[in-house]
Order: sequence, then C-alpha cells, then structure tokens
Amino acid sequence: MQKEKDIKQKITCRICELEKKINVEAKYEGNTIEGFWANMCQACFSKYGVGLGVRVVTF
Ligand SMILES: [Zn+2]
Repeated sequence: MQKEKDIKQKITCRICELEKKINVEAKYEGNTIEGFWANMCQACFSKYGVGLGVRVVTF
C-alpha cells in the first residue's frame, strides 16, 4: 500500500509565477481576462479571474 500523502502535489499560482513569485498555492482554476486558462491563488483570481472559475480541490 502506498501512502497518498507522499505523492500529493502542490498546485501553484500561474500568475504569481509570471510575477516572479513562486510557490504560491493556487486555490482556483479558471479563465482569465487575458484569455488563458490558469491556476490562480485567491488574490489573482479576484483580480484576473473571469466568471466563477473552478475551485481547485486541494489535497
Ligand atoms: Zn497568484
């Protein structure tokens, strides 16, 4: 049996990465005002998110 907690992966915010802030945990996945689909943290989702977005299921 494999322990699942050992294989969990952190989803990071794409927009923060573009702003050189790495390892910001993403909470949402959705479309952005720039027209691309991205994982976003709470702050970026409120700034750049379009529509409702999809809540990322965190582990
Ligand atoms: Zn962010």
